[in-house]
Amino acid sequence: DRRTAQEALERLTVDVPDWPEKGVTFKDITPVLADHHAFSAIITALAAAGRDDHGNVVVDKVVGMEARGFILAAPVALALGIGFVPVRKAGKLPREAHAVSYSLEYGEAILEVHRDAIGAGERVLMVDDVLATGGTVEATRQLIEACGGVATGASVLMELSFLDPRAVTGALPISTLLTV
Ligand code: AMP
Repeated sequence: DRRTAQEALERLTVDVPDWPEKGVTFKDITPVLADHHAFSAIITALAAAGRDDHGNVVVDKVVGMEARGFILAAPVALALGIGFVPVRKAGKLPREAHAVSYSLEYGEAILEVHRDAIGAGERVLMVDDVLATGGTVEATRQLIEACGGVATGASVLMELSFLDPRAVTGALPISTLLTV
């Protein structure tokens, strides 16, 4: 259940100070992934955001953002019995794609999605490991809408609330297992 997943996350996530640059504490979830029970618990907990109170699946696609989002979103999609869509960094997708640029702490980045990956009116859940400034989730929401889909929300492991991501993501529902 949710409590088990939260405990596993707290116990196994490693805080790496000053990485990849000074002042940033990197949340390393690789020990969580390496533990079968912990991995299974966090996937079940992340997938709950795609169900209603009766357990019915209420989304049509799960989107994962490169790169750690892939590792989480793909098993969430399988758990829900629906398809997985990758959102990738610029220049990686082989066919026609929508692109959105967004600002990072220093400079800009571009995320892309295949134009035909999400159908008109499809309901889409985003999955990623860490919600930091919120820029990645907001850019992905724009990509889903560029395809004609409906971004129903995001499901993440950890929210770095001191970076105030909700100021960027606005009214979008975001469920988080841990708030730091
Ligand atoms: P943001 O767009 O600022 O919300 O950043 C979210 C993306 O950057 C996610 O895909 C995370 O994987 C990654 N990220 C940002 N900050 C951290 C952090 N402190 N530890 C681990 N990953 C992070």
